[in-house]
Amino acid sequence: MADEPKPSANSKADPLAMSASNRGCGLVFIISAPSGSGKSTLVNELRHSVEGLDFSISYTTRAPRGSEQNGREYCYLSRDEFEKMISADLFLEYADVFGNYYGTARCFLDRAMQHGHDLLLDIDVQGAAQLQAKLPQSISIFVLPPSRRELELRLRRRSSAENVKDPGIIQRRLDTASREICNYNHYDYILVNDRLEDSIEALKAIVLSERLRRSGREPSGEVRRLAERCRLENVRESIQSILATFGNQESSAVRK
Ligand code: 5GP
Repeated sequence: MADEPKPSANSKADPLAMSASNRGCGLVFIISAPSGSGKSTLVNELRHSVEGLDFSISYTTRAPRGSEQNGREYCYLSRDEFEKMISADLFLEYADVFGNYYGTARCFLDRAMQHGHDLLLDIDVQGAAQLQAKLPQSISIFVLPPSRRELELRLRRRSSAENVKDPGIIQRRLDTASREICNYNHYDYILVNDRLEDSIEALKAIVLSERLRRSGREPSGEVRRLAERCRLENVRESIQSILATFGNQESSAVRK
């Protein structure tokens, strides 16, 4: 590929550093995952290491957690304010997740497109379904934990770090995870988040590979290998053992 971005000097350590030279072209990347699967860390890494990728800051009626700040992780609203935004048709999609509203404001998409940037959305399976219907060209990625046991451990660690006292919360999140995971089949890519560094590299590869492809170039080398390895059709068999730990096999493809 003569005009494919060339790896930078440190590309052996980070073969995807070349993504910095590729500035986005109006693509929409949707990323969904069960709570506790490590998605926020992945999303943060991606946001800070890939140029031309805007992040849609969602609106929510849930209270800020820990060190979260209004306008950084989320824009926090009352239910009343959120419902006014629904009535004014300001959301591209919204959903009730764990008893709170979460929504993507249209303005983030408009702004990203005006700047010729790509847009990254961290939304649940219901929001992803709405967006895939509205934006069929969007690229969707589902992050899977390596097993139910590992997800449970991560949720327990997070709960104790956040000093959450409700003993039922972990069970509810695990039950929701099992239902959400049934939807893996609706995503273009499946990323098993086992080792964080590998997952970040794979995520960057997916973004770069889609950018190349959508601008008429074929990805090659490490970028292609990492991205292709996560394609839905290439992981169907290998993820069956993970799905089985959640009591799911061969997705019933039911939206939550
Ligand atoms: P958390 O409260 O743990 O940050 O997020 C809970 C869930 O809400 C996650 O699955 C997250 O992806 C989802 N979520 C965050 N923002 C949005 C949004 O704008 N729309 C939808 N549909 N889901 C969202």
